[in-house]
Amino acid sequence: MHATGELGVTQANHYDAIVVGGGASGVVAAARMAAAGRRVLLLEAGTRFGGCIQSWRPSTDFWLELGAHTAYNSYGPLLRALTDSGGADALLRREKLGYRFLHTDGGLQSPLARLGWIEAAVSMPFGLRRPKAGRDVADWFGRLLGPGNYRRLLAPAFAAVLSQPADRFPAEWLFRRKPRVKSAPRKFTYPGGLQALLERIVRGAGFEARLDTAVTAIERRSGGFHVRADGQTWTCAQLLLALPVDAAARLLRASWPELASRLEQFVMVEIPAVGVVVQAKRTSLPPVAGLIGADDLFWSVVTRDPVPHPDLRGFTFHFRPDAGDAAACRARIAAVLGVAEADFLHVHATINRLPALDTRHPPLAAEISAMLDGQPLALVGNYLNGLSIGDCAERAEREVQRLLAL
Ligand SMILES: Cc1cc2nc3c(=O)[nH]c(=O)nc-3n(C[C@H](O)[C@H](O)[C@H](O)COP(=O)(O)OP(=O)(O)OC[C@H]3O[C@@H](n4cnc5c(N)ncnc54)[C@H](O)[C@@H]3O)c2cc1C
Repeated sequence: MHATGELGVTQANHYDAIVVGGGASGVVAAARMAAAGRRVLLLEAGTRFGGCIQSWRPSTDFWLELGAHTAYNSYGPLLRALTDSGGADALLRREKLGYRFLHTDGGLQSPLARLGWIEAAVSMPFGLRRPKAGRDVADWFGRLLGPGNYRRLLAPAFAAVLSQPADRFPAEWLFRRKPRVKSAPRKFTYPGGLQALLERIVRGAGFEARLDTAVTAIERRSGGFHVRADGQTWTCAQLLLALPVDAAARLLRASWPELASRLEQFVMVEIPAVGVVVQAKRTSLPPVAGLIGADDLFWSVVTRDPVPHPDLRGFTFHFRPDAGDAAACRARIAAVLGVAEADFLHVHATINRLPALDTRHPPLAAEISAMLDGQPLALVGNYLNGLSIGDCAERAEREVQRLLAL
Protein backbone atom coordinates (compact mmCIF):
# COMPACT_ATOMS: atom_id res chain seq x y z
CA MET A 1 0.00 0.00 0.00
CA HIS A 2 1.37 3.42 -0.97
CA ALA A 3 0.32 6.82 0.32
CA THR A 4 -1.72 8.80 -2.26
CA GLY A 5 -0.92 12.50 -2.70
CA GLU A 6 -1.76 15.21 -5.19
CA LEU A 7 -3.46 13.95 -8.43
CA GLY A 8 -3.34 10.34 -7.28
CA VAL A 9 0.46 10.30 -7.31
CA THR A 10 1.80 7.70 -4.89
CA GLN A 11 5.29 6.85 -3.82
CA ALA A 12 5.01 3.89 -6.17
CA ASN A 13 4.54 6.37 -9.03
CA HIS A 14 7.63 8.34 -8.07
CA TYR A 15 10.97 7.67 -9.75
CA ASP A 16 14.45 9.08 -9.49
CA ALA A 17 14.33 9.47 -13.27
CA ILE A 18 11.78 9.05 -16.05
CA VAL A 19 12.92 8.52 -19.64
CA VAL A 20 10.37 9.38 -22.34
CA GLY A 21 10.95 7.52 -25.64
CA GLY A 22 12.14 3.94 -26.09
CA GLY A 23 14.46 4.17 -29.11
CA ALA A 24 18.22 3.63 -28.85
CA SER A 25 18.73 6.96 -27.02
CA GLY A 26 16.10 6.28 -24.37
CA VAL A 27 16.99 2.63 -23.78
CA VAL A 28 20.70 3.40 -23.36
CA ALA A 29 19.92 6.38 -21.08
CA ALA A 30 17.58 4.30 -18.88
CA ALA A 31 20.10 1.45 -18.65
CA ARG A 32 23.02 3.73 -17.72
CA MET A 33 20.88 5.54 -15.13
CA ALA A 34 19.70 2.23 -13.62
CA ALA A 35 23.29 0.95 -13.55
CA ALA A 36 24.08 3.85 -11.19
CA GLY A 37 21.44 2.54 -8.76
CA ARG A 38 18.65 4.98 -9.63
CA ARG A 39 14.97 3.94 -9.82
CA VAL A 40 14.06 4.51 -13.46
CA LEU A 41 10.87 4.33 -15.55
CA LEU A 42 10.94 4.32 -19.38
CA LEU A 43 7.75 5.30 -21.24
CA GLU A 44 7.36 4.42 -24.94
CA ALA A 45 4.38 5.46 -27.08
CA GLY A 46 4.63 2.59 -29.58
CA THR A 47 3.92 -1.13 -29.37
CA ARG A 48 7.64 -2.00 -29.46
CA PHE A 49 10.96 -0.61 -28.27
CA GLY A 50 13.39 0.54 -30.97
CA GLY A 51 12.02 3.64 -32.74
CA CYS A 52 14.21 3.91 -35.88
CA ILE A 53 15.48 0.41 -35.09
CA GLN A 54 12.73 -1.83 -36.43
CA SER A 55 13.47 -5.52 -36.94
CA TRP A 56 10.52 -6.95 -38.87
CA ARG A 57 9.88 -10.63 -38.09
CA PRO A 58 7.76 -12.09 -40.90
CA SER A 59 8.44 -15.68 -39.81
CA THR A 60 9.81 -17.34 -36.68
CA ASP A 61 13.33 -17.82 -38.06
CA PHE A 62 13.73 -14.70 -40.21
CA TRP A 63 14.02 -11.01 -39.48
CA LEU A 64 14.74 -8.03 -41.71
CA GLU A 65 15.82 -4.56 -40.64
CA LEU A 66 13.38 -1.89 -41.87
CA GLY A 67 15.41 0.93 -40.28
CA ALA A 68 18.92 0.86 -38.79
CA HIS A 69 20.81 -2.31 -39.66
CA THR A 70 24.45 -2.11 -38.52
CA ALA A 71 26.10 -1.39 -35.18
CA TYR A 72 29.87 -1.01 -34.78
CA ASN A 73 32.25 -1.83 -31.95
CA SER A 74 32.86 1.93 -31.64
CA TYR A 75 29.37 2.16 -30.05
CA GLY A 76 30.82 1.82 -26.51
CA PRO A 77 27.86 3.20 -24.51
CA LEU A 78 25.46 0.85 -26.34
CA LEU A 79 27.74 -2.10 -25.57
CA ARG A 80 28.03 -1.01 -21.92
CA ALA A 81 24.23 -0.92 -21.62
CA LEU A 82 24.05 -4.38 -23.19
CA THR A 83 26.69 -5.65 -20.76
CA ASP A 84 24.65 -4.19 -17.84
CA SER A 85 21.73 -6.32 -19.04
CA GLY A 86 23.82 -9.51 -19.24
CA GLY A 87 23.25 -9.78 -23.01
CA ALA A 88 26.68 -8.97 -24.45
CA ASP A 89 27.63 -12.61 -25.17
CA ALA A 90 25.03 -13.02 -27.92
CA LEU A 91 26.37 -10.37 -30.37
CA LEU A 92 26.12 -11.58 -33.97
CA ARG A 93 28.94 -10.72 -36.34
CA ARG A 94 27.84 -9.30 -39.72
CA GLU A 95 29.72 -10.93 -42.59
CA LYS A 96 31.97 -8.63 -44.60
CA LEU A 97 30.07 -7.75 -47.78
CA GLY A 98 30.31 -4.59 -49.82
CA TYR A 99 27.89 -2.03 -51.23
CA ARG A 100 27.43 -1.68 -54.99
CA PHE A 101 26.07 1.10 -57.15
CA LEU A 102 23.06 -0.04 -59.15
CA HIS A 103 22.61 1.38 -62.64
CA THR A 104 19.05 1.81 -63.86
CA ASP A 105 19.81 -0.83 -66.56
CA GLY A 106 20.49 -3.33 -63.73
CA GLY A 107 24.32 -3.30 -63.86
CA LEU A 108 26.27 -3.34 -60.57
CA GLN A 109 29.38 -1.24 -60.07
CA SER A 110 31.94 -1.20 -57.26
CA PRO A 111 32.19 2.21 -55.54
CA LEU A 112 35.94 2.27 -56.25
CA ALA A 113 35.20 2.10 -60.00
CA ARG A 114 33.70 5.59 -59.60
CA LEU A 115 36.79 7.05 -57.96
CA GLY A 116 39.01 9.28 -60.10
CA TRP A 117 42.39 8.49 -58.54
CA ILE A 118 44.28 11.45 -59.98
CA GLU A 119 41.67 13.94 -58.81
CA ALA A 120 41.71 12.33 -55.35
CA ALA A 121 45.52 12.36 -55.12
CA VAL A 122 45.70 16.05 -56.10
CA SER A 123 42.92 17.15 -53.72
CA MET A 124 43.63 15.11 -50.62
CA PRO A 125 46.75 16.81 -49.19
CA PHE A 126 44.87 20.15 -49.03
CA GLY A 127 41.47 18.70 -48.14
CA LEU A 128 42.66 16.71 -45.15
CA ARG A 129 43.96 19.80 -43.35
CA ARG A 130 40.68 21.72 -43.40
CA PRO A 131 38.69 21.67 -40.15
CA LYS A 132 35.23 20.10 -40.43
CA ALA A 133 33.49 22.43 -37.95
CA GLY A 134 31.09 24.81 -39.72
CA ARG A 135 31.51 23.06 -43.09
CA ASP A 136 28.93 20.91 -44.81
CA VAL A 137 29.57 17.52 -46.38
CA ALA A 138 29.60 18.84 -49.96
CA ASP A 139 32.19 21.49 -49.06
CA TRP A 140 34.50 19.34 -46.90
CA PHE A 141 34.37 16.04 -48.79
CA GLY A 142 34.21 17.84 -52.15
CA ARG A 143 37.57 19.42 -51.34
CA LEU A 144 38.93 16.18 -49.88
CA LEU A 145 38.46 14.04 -53.00
CA GLY A 146 37.63 16.70 -55.59
CA PRO A 147 34.26 17.84 -56.96
CA GLY A 148 34.06 15.10 -59.65
CA ASN A 149 34.62 12.35 -57.10
CA TYR A 150 32.15 13.98 -54.76
CA ARG A 151 29.44 14.10 -57.44
CA ARG A 152 30.00 10.59 -58.85
CA LEU A 153 30.82 8.68 -55.68
CA LEU A 154 30.41 10.43 -52.35
CA ALA A 155 27.14 12.35 -52.77
CA PRO A 156 25.08 9.25 -53.69
CA ALA A 157 26.93 7.03 -51.18
CA PHE A 158 26.37 9.49 -48.31
CA ALA A 159 22.73 9.99 -49.35
CA ALA A 160 22.36 6.19 -49.15
CA VAL A 161 23.79 6.25 -45.60
CA LEU A 162 21.58 9.15 -44.46
CA SER A 163 18.46 8.22 -46.53
CA GLN A 164 18.24 11.87 -47.63
CA PRO A 165 20.39 14.35 -49.59
CA ALA A 166 23.77 14.64 -47.84
CA ASP A 167 25.19 17.90 -49.28
CA ARG A 168 24.16 20.22 -46.43
CA PHE A 169 24.77 17.71 -43.61
CA PRO A 170 27.37 18.96 -41.06
CA ALA A 171 30.73 17.35 -41.93
CA GLU A 172 31.68 17.16 -38.22
CA TRP A 173 28.66 14.90 -37.52
CA LEU A 174 29.43 12.31 -40.22
CA PHE A 175 31.69 9.34 -39.32
CA ARG A 176 33.23 10.56 -36.09
CA ARG A 177 36.09 8.52 -34.66
CA LYS A 178 35.24 6.77 -31.38
CA PRO A 179 37.24 4.30 -29.29
CA ARG A 180 36.59 0.67 -30.26
CA VAL A 181 35.57 -2.11 -27.87
CA LYS A 182 38.03 -4.73 -29.11
CA SER A 183 36.13 -7.67 -27.59
CA ALA A 184 33.10 -7.02 -29.84
CA PRO A 185 32.88 -7.77 -33.59
CA ARG A 186 33.67 -4.70 -35.69
CA LYS A 187 30.19 -4.77 -37.27
CA PHE A 188 27.43 -6.55 -35.44
CA THR A 189 23.75 -7.18 -35.01
CA TYR A 190 21.86 -9.46 -32.62
CA PRO A 191 19.84 -12.68 -32.96
CA GLY A 192 16.40 -11.35 -33.97
CA GLY A 193 17.92 -8.09 -35.21
CA LEU A 194 19.01 -4.84 -33.56
CA GLN A 195 15.55 -4.37 -32.05
CA ALA A 196 16.14 -7.62 -30.12
CA LEU A 197 19.37 -6.08 -28.76
CA LEU A 198 17.39 -3.14 -27.36
CA GLU A 199 14.70 -5.52 -26.04
CA ARG A 200 17.45 -7.48 -24.26
CA ILE A 201 18.62 -4.28 -22.56
CA VAL A 202 15.03 -3.44 -21.53
CA ARG A 203 14.56 -6.93 -20.01
CA GLY A 204 17.86 -7.09 -18.19
CA ALA A 205 19.15 -3.66 -17.24
CA GLY A 206 17.08 -3.15 -14.07
CA PHE A 207 14.61 -0.42 -14.98
CA GLU A 208 10.82 -0.45 -15.41
CA ALA A 209 9.45 0.09 -18.91
CA ARG A 210 5.99 0.52 -20.42
CA LEU A 211 4.88 0.28 -24.04
CA ASP A 212 1.71 1.91 -25.49
CA THR A 213 2.26 4.91 -23.24
CA ALA A 214 2.35 8.17 -25.18
CA VAL A 215 3.33 11.01 -22.87
CA THR A 216 1.01 13.96 -23.48
CA ALA A 217 2.26 16.53 -20.97
CA ILE A 218 5.18 17.28 -18.70
CA GLU A 219 5.12 19.86 -15.96
CA ARG A 220 7.91 21.39 -13.99
CA ARG A 221 7.19 21.24 -10.24
CA SER A 222 9.31 22.15 -7.24
CA GLY A 223 11.57 19.19 -6.64
CA GLY A 224 10.95 17.62 -10.02
CA PHE A 225 8.43 16.86 -12.75
CA HIS A 226 4.93 15.54 -13.36
CA VAL A 227 4.68 13.31 -16.43
CA ARG A 228 1.22 12.50 -17.82
CA ALA A 229 -0.07 9.86 -20.23
CA ASP A 230 -3.44 8.09 -20.61
CA GLY A 231 -4.92 9.77 -17.57
CA GLN A 232 -2.01 8.58 -15.43
CA THR A 233 0.59 10.70 -13.70
CA TRP A 234 4.10 9.81 -12.60
CA THR A 235 6.56 12.04 -10.81
CA CYS A 236 10.33 12.13 -10.93
CA ALA A 237 13.29 14.14 -9.75
CA GLN A 238 15.02 14.04 -13.15
CA LEU A 239 13.54 13.80 -16.63
CA LEU A 240 15.16 12.66 -19.88
CA LEU A 241 13.37 13.27 -23.18
CA ALA A 242 14.59 10.76 -25.78
CA LEU A 243 12.17 11.73 -28.53
CA PRO A 244 12.18 12.74 -32.18
CA VAL A 245 12.92 16.46 -32.13
CA ASP A 246 9.39 17.54 -33.17
CA ALA A 247 7.81 15.42 -30.40
CA ALA A 248 10.26 16.86 -27.85
CA ALA A 249 9.40 20.41 -28.98
CA ARG A 250 5.67 19.76 -28.51
CA LEU A 251 6.12 18.44 -24.96
CA LEU A 252 8.40 21.30 -23.95
CA ARG A 253 6.28 24.12 -25.43
CA ALA A 254 4.21 24.81 -22.25
CA SER A 255 6.93 24.60 -19.56
CA TRP A 256 10.11 25.45 -21.53
CA PRO A 257 9.11 27.73 -24.42
CA GLU A 258 12.70 28.96 -24.81
CA LEU A 259 13.96 25.38 -25.35
CA ALA A 260 10.98 24.45 -27.53
CA SER A 261 11.69 27.39 -29.84
CA ARG A 262 15.26 26.05 -30.41
CA LEU A 263 13.94 22.55 -31.17
CA GLU A 264 11.39 23.97 -33.61
CA GLN A 265 14.33 25.06 -35.81
CA PHE A 266 14.91 21.40 -36.78
CA VAL A 267 12.99 19.82 -39.65
CA MET A 268 12.07 16.13 -39.97
CA VAL A 269 12.04 14.11 -43.21
CA GLU A 270 9.99 11.01 -43.93
CA ILE A 271 11.58 8.05 -45.70
CA PRO A 272 9.16 5.39 -47.00
CA ALA A 273 10.67 1.90 -46.65
CA VAL A 274 9.48 -1.40 -48.10
CA GLY A 275 10.86 -4.75 -46.90
CA VAL A 276 10.56 -7.80 -49.16
CA VAL A 277 11.44 -11.46 -48.51
CA VAL A 278 11.96 -13.91 -51.39
CA GLN A 279 13.21 -17.48 -51.79
CA ALA A 280 17.00 -17.19 -52.21
CA LYS A 281 16.93 -19.30 -55.37
CA ARG A 282 14.53 -16.87 -57.09
CA THR A 283 16.93 -13.93 -57.37
CA SER A 284 20.28 -13.94 -59.15
CA LEU A 285 21.45 -10.74 -57.41
CA PRO A 286 24.88 -11.58 -55.92
CA PRO A 287 25.23 -11.31 -52.13
CA VAL A 288 25.74 -7.65 -51.16
CA ALA A 289 25.39 -5.62 -47.97
CA GLY A 290 23.41 -3.11 -49.96
CA LEU A 291 22.82 -1.18 -53.16
CA ILE A 292 23.24 2.54 -53.76
CA GLY A 293 20.70 4.04 -56.13
CA ALA A 294 22.48 6.95 -57.79
CA ASP A 295 19.56 8.05 -59.99
CA ASP A 296 16.91 5.62 -58.88
CA LEU A 297 13.59 5.69 -57.02
CA PHE A 298 15.46 4.75 -53.83
CA TRP A 299 18.41 6.05 -51.82
CA SER A 300 19.53 2.56 -50.88
CA VAL A 301 18.61 -1.09 -50.60
CA VAL A 302 19.80 -2.80 -47.42
CA THR A 303 19.97 -6.59 -47.47
CA ARG A 304 19.99 -9.42 -44.89
CA ASP A 305 22.94 -10.99 -46.75
CA PRO A 306 25.55 -10.14 -44.05
CA VAL A 307 23.56 -12.48 -41.77
CA PRO A 308 22.73 -15.16 -44.35
CA HIS A 309 19.76 -17.53 -44.14
CA PRO A 310 19.86 -20.91 -45.92
CA ASP A 311 16.63 -20.43 -47.94
CA LEU A 312 15.50 -16.81 -47.73
CA ARG A 313 16.83 -13.40 -48.70
CA GLY A 314 15.50 -10.06 -47.51
CA PHE A 315 15.79 -6.55 -48.96
CA THR A 316 14.67 -3.20 -47.56
CA PHE A 317 14.24 -0.44 -50.12
CA HIS A 318 14.56 3.08 -48.66
CA PHE A 319 12.65 5.16 -51.19
CA ARG A 320 12.99 8.81 -52.09
CA PRO A 321 9.98 10.99 -51.20
CA ASP A 322 9.01 11.32 -54.87
CA ALA A 323 9.34 7.59 -55.69
CA GLY A 324 5.68 7.26 -56.64
CA ASP A 325 2.86 5.09 -55.34
CA ALA A 326 3.00 1.60 -53.84
CA ALA A 327 2.54 -0.04 -57.25
CA ALA A 328 5.53 1.86 -58.72
CA CYS A 329 7.68 0.89 -55.73
CA ARG A 330 6.72 -2.80 -55.94
CA ALA A 331 7.41 -2.84 -59.69
CA ARG A 332 10.88 -1.35 -59.14
CA ILE A 333 11.63 -3.85 -56.35
CA ALA A 334 10.69 -6.76 -58.63
CA ALA A 335 12.87 -5.37 -61.45
CA VAL A 336 15.91 -4.87 -59.18
CA LEU A 337 15.62 -8.39 -57.75
CA GLY A 338 14.83 -9.88 -61.17
CA VAL A 339 11.72 -11.62 -59.83
CA ALA A 340 7.96 -11.41 -60.39
CA GLU A 341 5.87 -9.64 -57.75
CA ALA A 342 4.20 -13.03 -57.18
CA ASP A 343 7.61 -14.23 -55.86
CA PHE A 344 7.42 -11.83 -52.88
CA LEU A 345 6.84 -14.15 -49.90
CA HIS A 346 6.37 -11.31 -47.43
CA VAL A 347 6.11 -7.54 -47.92
CA HIS A 348 6.00 -4.82 -45.27
CA ALA A 349 5.88 -1.05 -45.76
CA THR A 350 6.74 1.52 -43.11
CA ILE A 351 7.78 5.17 -42.82
CA ASN A 352 11.06 6.10 -41.12
CA ARG A 353 11.59 9.64 -39.82
CA LEU A 354 14.89 11.43 -39.33
CA PRO A 355 15.94 15.05 -38.76
CA ALA A 356 17.32 16.85 -41.84
CA LEU A 357 20.52 18.25 -40.31
CA ASP A 358 22.71 21.02 -41.66
CA THR A 359 25.56 23.28 -40.49
CA ARG A 360 23.21 25.44 -38.37
CA HIS A 361 22.51 22.49 -36.09
CA PRO A 362 25.82 21.76 -34.27
CA PRO A 363 25.94 25.33 -32.81
CA LEU A 364 22.22 25.10 -32.02
CA ALA A 365 22.82 21.78 -30.23
CA ALA A 366 25.64 23.42 -28.25
CA GLU A 367 23.27 26.26 -27.29
CA ILE A 368 20.63 23.74 -26.18
CA SER A 369 23.22 21.88 -24.07
CA ALA A 370 24.30 25.16 -22.44
CA MET A 371 20.65 25.94 -21.58
CA LEU A 372 20.34 22.53 -19.89
CA ASP A 373 23.48 23.00 -17.82
CA GLY A 374 22.64 22.56 -14.12
CA GLN A 375 19.03 21.54 -14.91
CA PRO A 376 17.44 18.20 -13.90
CA LEU A 377 16.16 17.91 -17.49
CA ALA A 378 18.12 16.15 -20.27
CA LEU A 379 17.51 16.02 -24.01
CA VAL A 380 18.94 13.08 -25.90
CA GLY A 381 18.33 11.97 -29.48
CA ASN A 382 19.61 11.95 -33.02
CA TYR A 383 19.47 15.73 -33.53
CA LEU A 384 22.09 16.69 -30.91
CA ASN A 385 25.26 14.80 -31.75
CA GLY A 386 24.79 13.04 -35.09
CA LEU A 387 22.39 10.46 -36.47
CA SER A 388 24.04 7.12 -35.79
CA ILE A 389 23.05 4.81 -32.96
CA GLY A 390 26.58 5.34 -31.62
CA ASP A 391 26.13 9.14 -31.63
CA CYS A 392 22.77 8.77 -29.85
CA ALA A 393 24.20 6.36 -27.26
CA GLU A 394 27.18 8.64 -26.64
CA ARG A 395 24.92 11.65 -26.03
CA ALA A 396 22.68 9.53 -23.77
CA GLU A 397 25.60 8.36 -21.64
CA ARG A 398 27.02 11.87 -21.37
CA GLU A 399 23.68 13.36 -20.30
CA VAL A 400 23.18 10.59 -17.71
CA GLN A 401 26.60 11.39 -16.25
CA ARG A 402 25.64 15.07 -16.08
CA LEU A 403 22.37 14.28 -14.25
CA LEU A 404 24.10 11.87 -11.86
CA ALA A 405 26.56 14.60 -10.90
CA LEU A 406 23.86 17.19 -10.03
C1 LIG B 1 16.48 3.97 -42.56
C2 LIG B 1 17.46 4.22 -41.46
C3 LIG B 1 18.66 3.51 -41.42
C4 LIG B 1 19.58 3.74 -40.41
N1 LIG B 1 20.70 2.97 -40.36
C5 LIG B 1 21.54 3.10 -39.31
C6 LIG B 1 22.60 2.16 -39.14
O1 LIG B 1 22.74 1.18 -39.88
N2 LIG B 1 23.46 2.37 -38.10
C7 LIG B 1 23.32 3.42 -37.24
O2 LIG B 1 24.13 3.55 -36.33
N3 LIG B 1 22.28 4.29 -37.34
C8 LIG B 1 21.38 4.13 -38.35
N4 LIG B 1 20.30 4.96 -38.45
C9 LIG B 1 20.13 6.07 -37.48
C10 LIG B 1 19.60 5.59 -36.13
O3 LIG B 1 18.86 4.41 -36.27
C11 LIG B 1 18.69 6.63 -35.45
O4 LIG B 1 19.15 7.94 -35.59
C12 LIG B 1 18.56 6.28 -33.95
O5 LIG B 1 18.18 4.93 -33.79
C13 LIG B 1 17.57 7.24 -33.31
O6 LIG B 1 17.31 6.83 -31.99
P1 LIG B 1 16.51 7.78 -30.98
O7 LIG B 1 16.21 6.95 -29.78
O8 LIG B 1 17.23 9.05 -30.76
O9 LIG B 1 15.16 8.19 -31.73
P2 LIG B 1 13.98 7.27 -32.26
O10 LIG B 1 14.52 5.99 -32.75
O11 LIG B 1 13.20 8.13 -33.19
O12 LIG B 1 13.13 6.96 -30.95
C14 LIG B 1 12.23 7.86 -30.38
C15 LIG B 1 11.12 7.07 -29.66
O13 LIG B 1 10.24 7.99 -29.01
C16 LIG B 1 8.94 7.45 -29.09
N5 LIG B 1 7.98 8.52 -28.84
C17 LIG B 1 7.59 9.52 -29.69
N6 LIG B 1 6.70 10.33 -29.07
C18 LIG B 1 6.50 9.81 -27.82
C19 LIG B 1 5.70 10.21 -26.71
N7 LIG B 1 4.91 11.30 -26.75
N8 LIG B 1 5.73 9.46 -25.58
C20 LIG B 1 6.54 8.36 -25.50
N9 LIG B 1 7.31 7.94 -26.53
C21 LIG B 1 7.30 8.66 -27.67
C22 LIG B 1 8.89 6.89 -30.49
O14 LIG B 1 7.82 5.95 -30.62
C23 LIG B 1 10.27 6.25 -30.62
O15 LIG B 1 10.28 4.89 -30.21
C24 LIG B 1 19.32 4.73 -39.43
C25 LIG B 1 18.12 5.43 -39.44
C26 LIG B 1 17.18 5.18 -40.43
C27 LIG B 1 15.85 5.89 -40.39
